[in-house]
Formats: sequence, C-alpha cells, structure tokens
Amino acid sequence: MTSTSIVQEALEEKLGERRQLEILLVTGRSLVQGMSMEAEGKRSRRYRLSASTLSLNPEDAQLIGVEKNSRVRVETEHGAIVVNVSIDPGLPRGTGFIPMGPWANAVVCPLTDGTGMPKYKNIPAKVRPTEEQVPSVEELVSIITGRRVDAHPVELDLREGEKKIIEDFVCPFCGDLCDFIKVHLNGNIVEKVVGACPLGSSKIRNYHRDRIVKPYIRSPSGLLEECTLPKALDKAAEILASSKHPLIFGLSSTVNEAIIVGVELAEYLGAIIDNTTVVCHGPTTIGVMEAGAARCTLGLVRHLADLILFWGCNPAEAHPNHFKRWVIEGGKHVKGRKDRRVIVIDVRRTATARMADEFIMVEPGKDYELITALRMAVKDLDIEQSTVAGVPREKIYELADALRSCKYGVGFFGMGLTMNEPRYRSLEELIKLAHDLNDWTRFTVVPMRGHYNVTGACQVSTWLTGYPFSVDFMRGIPKFIPGLTTATDALIRGDVDAALIIASDPVAHFPRKAVENLSKIPLIVVDPKWSLTAMIADVVIPSAMSGVEAGGTAYRMDGVPLRVKKIIEPPTGVMEDHRILLEILSRVRRLRGE
Ligand code: SF4
Repeated sequence: MTSTSIVQEALEEKLGERRQLEILLVTGRSLVQGMSMEAEGKRSRRYRLSASTLSLNPEDAQLIGVEKNSRVRVETEHGAIVVNVSIDPGLPRGTGFIPMGPWANAVVCPLTDGTGMPKYKNIPAKVRPTEEQVPSVEELVSIITGRRVDAHPVELDLREGEKKIIEDFVCPFCGDLCDFIKVHLNGNIVEKVVGACPLGSSKIRNYHRDRIVKPYIRSPSGLLEECTLPKALDKAAEILASSKHPLIFGLSSTVNEAIIVGVELAEYLGAIIDNTTVVCHGPTTIGVMEAGAARCTLGLVRHLADLILFWGCNPAEAHPNHFKRWVIEGGKHVKGRKDRRVIVIDVRRTATARMADEFIMVEPGKDYELITALRMAVKDLDIEQSTVAGVPREKIYELADALRSCKYGVGFFGMGLTMNEPRYRSLEELIKLAHDLNDWTRFTVVPMRGHYNVTGACQVSTWLTGYPFSVDFMRGIPKFIPGLTTATDALIRGDVDAALIIASDPVAHFPRKAVENLSKIPLIVVDPKWSLTAMIADVVIPSAMSGVEAGGTAYRMDGVPLRVKKIIEPPTGVMEDHRILLEILSRVRRLRGE
C-alpha cells in the first residue's frame, strides 16, 4: 500500500467516524402520517414519505453532512433501517424523531420491563449517511414477516342521491370524539365535513378508499384468494377452535357493542384479549392502580381550568381540535384563551409548545426526575441540584408556584410519559403530584387517549372482567399480569398460537420481534381497510367502518360515553364488527360440539 493510500484510508476512517452521529431516537405521532394513513392508506407515497423520515436538529445534520431528503441509516441494538432526513430546529441536539410506523418499529426496543409497553422513545441510535434506498412498506413488511404481502384495495362506488346534513356527528378518529361535526352527504358521497380537524376530516371524507370489500383466505401459493363470507367465517372459527391459547387484539377503533362480544369470545376460547392501550396508556392504567385517579371531564376543563399543562403530548398534531375546543374556547367561569395559562413540558419544541405561554424543555427520559423535583418544590422542600432533568432549580420552584396558585389546573399527558422510563412510575408520580396540588387548589390529570374508542375498550373490559386491558382467560378466570398477559409480551415470547385482530394494525405499530412472531401463527383480520396486518393475514374479513357505516356507543378520552351514528350504508355483504364476532363465536361453539 502506498503512503498516499494509507493517508487516504486514515482520512476516510476519520471522516467515517465523524460522519456517524449518536442520538436518542424518539418516535411519536405526526399530523401528515395520521392524515395520509386515513386518506391514501399505508401503502401510499405520502404515508411512506411521512413515516420513513428521521428529523434531526440542523447542527446535528450538518455535522454528518446530510440535509433535507438525504438518506441515513439508523442503527440501534434492535435493528437497522434506512430513512430520509428532515430538518427540525425544534429538536434539541442529539435527539432524532421518526413518526410511529413500520420504519420506526424496525429499530425500537421490544423490552417492556413487565409492563407491556415496548420502549418507543429515547433509544440510543447511530445515524450515518447512506446511498441505500428507503424500503417501501411492502418490502419492509415482507422482510420482517417472511410472508407474501397481498392486498386488493377497492374504492367504493360513489353515487349521488339524497342530499342531507348530518348534525352532531361524532368524529371516529381520535379519543376527543368531537361531537359537533356536520357532514354534508349527497347519496353516499361525503361532500363537506364542517368542524373536524384535518385528521378527522381525512378519515370521514376518505371512508370509501382503500377498502376491503370481499373476504379472502390465503392460498397455498401464498396469495390471498377471494372466497364467500361463510367460508371465511368457517375458516376463522376453525383456526380459533383448534388453537390452545389465541390472542384477540385491537378493538379500539370499533364500538362498545363489538368489544362486548370480543370479551365473550375470549372467555369462551380461553384467549388473551387486549386492546391498543397496551402500547399507549397501559402504563397510565397501571399508575392509576398504584396511586388512584385525579380526573375530570373535558366539560370541567372548558368551564373551570385557568391553568393547563401539556406534558409529553402534542395535541396540535395528534388531536388537532383539542386545543381549540378545550383551551381557546371559553366556558362558564373562564372566558377563553386569555384567561388560561398554558404550559408545555416536552423533549422538543412541538407545534403545541409554540402555542403555549411557556415551554419547558426536559431532557429525554428524565420526566420522572422532573416530576419528583416538582413534588418537592410543591412541598417547599429543598432541591439540592442546580438543575434537574435539564431544568434550572429556580424554574422548578416557579412552576410549582404557578401550579399551586391556579384556581383549577388540568394536566394533559401523553406518550412522552407513558413510553418512557421508569414506565408506569412516572404516571404514578404525576398522579401523586396532582394529589399534592389538591392540598392547595383543584388539580386533575387527564390522559390524551389516541385511538377513537380506546377508552371504551378499557371501560367495557373493566365492566366485564375487572381489568381494563391484557386479560387472559387461559385458566377460565380473567387474569391481568402485565408482562405476561400483555399482547406485546405474549407475542414477543411466542405464547399465543393464533391471533384475531379487529380494527387494529399491530404490524404497523408493534416492535419487530412481536411482528415476526405474529407472522408465524395463523392470523385472522377483521377490518374495513387494508392495514399492513391484513396484507399478511391468513383470513381477511371485511367490516363496516365503525362510526360511519356502523353505529353504537363509544367513550371519549375523559370517560364520557357518546352515541355514534351510522350515516352511510356499508358495501353489500359487509357486516358490522359485532355481528362478525357473533358469527365467529357461534361457529366456534358448533365446532366444539355445543
Ligand atoms: S380532534 Fe380528534 S375527534 Fe376531533 S375532529 Fe380531530 S381527529 Fe376527530
């Protein structure tokens, strides 16, 4: 080797080192990811561009010589993925953000520490520029599952007809269940949606796109073959009847009537039944079991709250009407935004933070320390350190004063807390902070529930089994043992031998290891749209879209039940979730000789 090439090699090696960035990877919702998944579907270009992007602080990006639309390879202990780059000055140095989805889940940490919640935030990762291509969603799912990906999307026929305006329509997208939406219908065409945010509007207007309208069974060739509905129901019942320990999962985007039958089916089968709480507010629920609850309804927030704290949540992107409805609009005793003080605590300057009166940036993964210090400040105890979790001691005392001196305070919190360490302890501590504050004033904390009726899934499960999620009927009685009966852990350990997924998409939202194991067992999917899970299923059963083509009852994030309306007929031959589940249950009973 010549001395020139030795020098060149040494330089490249040095450059290589320099061009590798170490970050803490954070995942979460984004507005475009949410809209594109509802409007065009998860195989669309817009979804791919939004969910396969790593946002970096400009200085970090410069350090490794990448700019907007460059490609980088993100590597963690749990996997590697190639994604595009986006620049976000609101991100602190050393932090990267990928919206939730299959690209992020290829590298997140599957360990749940006995809570059911994988680690979706603050994962140490190495980032370096690459010329490799970003995989499409089909390539990614096929690599992870080893199954042939197949989908037969249909755009429903839209026919003009009777014109009507549906008043007080309840939006079926997020846990805010906005119930003042006006939908202008012309036949089965949604011409206008008034009052909904971009996410809700996208779901309602695009109800007809990317639909499953026929049942399918996977053939020996590995492709999905169309079949009759009775045949698909028979096949689903056969799989479940011959299973020793199946998993029933999802149920958060359907109505309570279907969840009731889901629980009955799980009890009969000796199955685990779980809902998406396990990967959103499962730790909150465990925190409530430890410390009790300090909640209020959203109506009280509007009428009374003069201080609102958003901690680890970004409603501007995940629940876009929330801020306008409960912060900007006035109530009986608080006239509106100018009478409310809004404080945001988060690891990055989010869109919500930009609308607040005050933003406090906490170091990633250090929320627990900050809550604990805040509790000390509320009790007038001495904080010895000059900063806690990156926040100066004086600021913590100032915040404690603000919380103590408000007339009615509300803390909304999200997955920035639930997905962090030390897991449910942060939530337990936050609830205790609310209890402490109630010695001074009125203070409540309300979880920002994401999926449409995920609160209903917990409520119904609690009435019927005593537990809100992750209930195992294997021994004939309901058991809730986080870490054991949680769907994520059961899949990661390979403890279930068949799965029925209703109105949910674990392939898009569970960590890689869980998805790998899900693809190794017989898989039944009931869904109105082609989810990533439907694309690898053995049996696909189309269902009416809850809240649009099927009515019923759903619970808002604060636990208030609302009637949801059926406003459009489902496609011919397509049934509602609860009827599908009843059909499966009666077939399973028949197969077992009852
Ligand atoms: S905030 Fe949620 S419930 Fe309200 S319109 Fe938007 S998506 Fe729908």
